[in-house]
Amino acid sequence: MVDTLEWGVSGVRATTTDGRVYRADQAVVTLPLGVLKAGRVRFSPELPEEKLLAIAQLGITDAVKLFFQFDQPILPEGIVELYVPGANPDEWWSSTRGHGVELEILTSLATGDKARELLALPREKALRSALETLRQALGRPELTPIKARLAHWRDDPYILGAYSKASVGASKARSVLAKPVLGRLFFAGEHTASNAWAATVHGAYASGRRAASEVLRWRSEVHVQRPYSTDYDSVQAFMRS
Ligand SMILES: Cc1cc2nc3c(=O)[nH]c(=O)nc-3n(C[C@H](O)[C@H](O)[C@H](O)COP(=O)(O)OP(=O)(O)OC[C@H]3O[C@@H](n4cnc5c(N)ncnc54)[C@H](O)[C@@H]3O)c2cc1C
Repeated sequence: MVDTLEWGVSGVRATTTDGRVYRADQAVVTLPLGVLKAGRVRFSPELPEEKLLAIAQLGITDAVKLFFQFDQPILPEGIVELYVPGANPDEWWSSTRGHGVELEILTSLATGDKARELLALPREKALRSALETLRQALGRPELTPIKARLAHWRDDPYILGAYSKASVGASKARSVLAKPVLGRLFFAGEHTASNAWAATVHGAYASGRRAASEVLRWRSEVHVQRPYSTDYDSVQAFMRS
């Protein structure tokens, strides 16, 4: 796990929590927004002000997923998804239908306030409460899963949240976060994707391709024609500008 990322005129140096050191000309930073917001990785020197502001401006959506495994299909024939207005969770879908298996796994998703409501409960209680909404929706009070799991990412040190959201006034924050810094640091991850594609796998994928092409362009064109500045003061001046 990266603990510190030093960057400057001579390249980048990542130091991990167990003391290993990795050196490179450039680094692509794909840390999730939650990790950036929590300052879990120390940048030295600090990231430019505009990036810090963008990190602060973007918010994190809470999300929780619940999984219930039944020993036989429980959704009515032809139904693969349920939306239960007003319930928590209100979205359910079968993750197994159409896969030729006898059992059925239902997955449900809650986000925002609904996720926080469930996360405030002890895990077992949250699962029982969600199961109750399913029982009521299907009119089957006896329904009992053979396995039930709850997953969330709020406390996972590698994520610290589910995915990014742009609050009012933060419409430009993602493009600011995506900008390379001095040809040394490049940025990717769902939070750096366009507003339309952020918080998705395709957004994260496209941002990775964008960052890779920026690195290649920098190495093949800019670096060759205009070598890196070796003046550390110019780095600091850039940081202040
Ligand atoms: C419940 C839920 C449902 C979703 N549903 C969908 C969906 O239906 N469709 C869709 O398109 N998207 C969905 N998404 C969003 C999608 O999963 C994300 O947008 C995408 O996976 C983000 O990819 P990423 O590369 O930005 O981040 P990640 O995949 O989180 O990659 C970040 C990486 O950084 C690593 N890392 C973190 N800290 C450190 C550190 N200190 N040192 C070294 N490495 C570190 C992590 O281990 C991780 O590998 C969903 C997300 C959630 C939570």
